[in-house]
Amino acid sequence: MKYIFVTGGVVSSLGKGLAAASLGTLLEKRGLKVILQKFDPYLNVDPGTMSPFQHGEVYVLDDGAETDLDLGHYERFTNCTLSKLNNLTSGQVYESVIRKERRGDYLGATVQVIPHVTDEIKNRIHKVAREMDGDIIITEIGGTTGDIEGLPFLEAMRQFNDEVGSENVLFIHATLVPFIRAAGELKTKPTQQSVAKLREIGIQPQIILCRAEQEVDDELRSKISMFCNLPKSNVIQFLDLEHTIYEAPLELRKERFDQIVCDALGLDLPDPDLSEWKSFVNRIIHPSNEIRIAVVGKYIELQDAYKSIYEALTHAGASNDCRVSIVRLDSKEIVADGAAAHLSDLHGILIPGGFGERGIEGKVAAAQYARENNIPYFGLCLGMQIATIEFARNVCGLENANSSEFDPDTPHPVICLLEEQKDVDEKGGSMRLGTWETLLTKGSRSQELYGSDKVNERHRHRYEFNQDYRQQMEEAGLLIAGTSPDGTLTEIIELPEHPFFVASQFHPEFRSRPNKPHPLFAGFVKAGLECAKKA
Ligand code: GLN
Repeated sequence: MKYIFVTGGVVSSLGKGLAAASLGTLLEKRGLKVILQKFDPYLNVDPGTMSPFQHGEVYVLDDGAETDLDLGHYERFTNCTLSKLNNLTSGQVYESVIRKERRGDYLGATVQVIPHVTDEIKNRIHKVAREMDGDIIITEIGGTTGDIEGLPFLEAMRQFNDEVGSENVLFIHATLVPFIRAAGELKTKPTQQSVAKLREIGIQPQIILCRAEQEVDDELRSKISMFCNLPKSNVIQFLDLEHTIYEAPLELRKERFDQIVCDALGLDLPDPDLSEWKSFVNRIIHPSNEIRIAVVGKYIELQDAYKSIYEALTHAGASNDCRVSIVRLDSKEIVADGAAAHLSDLHGILIPGGFGERGIEGKVAAAQYARENNIPYFGLCLGMQIATIEFARNVCGLENANSSEFDPDTPHPVICLLEEQKDVDEKGGSMRLGTWETLLTKGSRSQELYGSDKVNERHRHRYEFNQDYRQQMEEAGLLIAGTSPDGTLTEIIELPEHPFFVASQFHPEFRSRPNKPHPLFAGFVKAGLECAKKA
């Protein structure tokens, strides 16, 4: 087993997750089985309780782990399917160390960061190596070199390198090489200092990935090489991508990134076959058609809050030869100006997941507009609950119907908690998480799109469609297109008379892949195209 550690310096948001994922793509295309994972030094046990303002999207895995959104990049850029083993946080490390201490496992020793915390971190890597099937593990360390929380992780990596042998371990450091306008040049000093910090701990990076706005020329590479103590050929640039993040593996390949990695680890592998990837990127960059889709949410100004949804739309667009331009709409604007003002010239309306009451009425208005004006509608999790509320109110005439999450006193809780959930008070404890099976209704659009009677999809929600209203809604024209295997939970609703009105309680966006777009997303984009052609 070979191990690669990717650290970051100078600033966050360097795209080191993307770089790690792209390296995964390149190595996989050379024939390796790649495992990608992330170690996050913050003290939260997982990002599940963090606000999207803090953290962007919470990415959900098959086993229900709520993880950092970089794991989304990892699963989209490679064929690996990750588990809760692949996102370790300081919170988990300390929780486990303290549990062991209370149990007396340390036999009276003073419990310390070195060795107890660092052992815990190293053990996780060994566990992944033992339990997952792979040739190489790429571990990205969250945060920036110099962060206090990050130190135990870096120390653990240093020890790990000594223990498994440096021929099996590679350190890659991503840094910012800023352009200083007044001087008209790129500056290497922050990189030098960041690498000096790493070397202080005993880690010598073998590859430096320079994130820059402009060409990092030969002279700069020589300088970084000298000050940071590595060959010039191992200083590579990672420039802003012109069109799409999926260009990253191709750009890094031009820099011979994967070749340098293989050489450093003594891996003799064939060149990667990137033809399929290139054709996917081409389809994103040069589509024949374009549609405009509204995403109506409350975190719309945040770049990362709906990451997987935007990616899934890109995949579905590529497969439909169509650019999907996303119109990000804050639901409060719909309340302020009316739905028609914002939605009348769009080709699809997507309502993503979300928690809490804010912004609900604007979303209900958007769903009503989509239903009444035959605009394709796609609801994800909260988006299905919204569609249910709208249908109950405006088609079934159930006045003030709502979810008990938003209005505990509603006369018609068409979305509610299940009886068995009501006594759970730990946040997260009552959540339905991870992959669950859905049985699809024969003749439904979903069944047709999936081309199957059964699917497994990932969930992250607390509230459910209230079965007490099922019959009434079905009589009014709602189709229950998917349920849990025992039939008690509604997983998908549809309006059969509508050009495309599909909403799921699960999150299909987590399973969309570049060359395997999610069937429901693909169907939604196709319906958007038809809507655009009619207009
Ligand atoms: N707030 C809703 C629930 O808990 C929807 C959650 C979501 O969209 N992820 O059920």
